[in-house]
Amino acid sequence: MKREPERIEKKMKCEECCLEMKKSSSIYVIERQGYRLLLNNVPVYVCPQCGAKYFDEDEVEAIRLMVEHLELDVSRIALAG
Ligand SMILES: [Zn+2]
Repeated sequence: MKREPERIEKKMKCEECCLEMKKSSSIYVIERQGYRLLLNNVPVYVCPQCGAKYFDEDEVEAIRLMVEHLELDVSRIALAG
């Protein structure tokens, strides 16, 4: 029997202040040659003291995969133009 992994809320601590970071959302900008991709509401951990931001690894990976697919399409458009 395979059990569904429980969704555990990750605790993130600021490396500088050792304080627990608050989960928030932010804009994530990806700059590439020929285009700029702006994503709203990307989950991010913010330190309440120094304001340091850490993006969730899973989110960053998902965005990276999305960009890979996008780049294939963008190169097709570039070739057509
Ligand atoms: Zn901090």
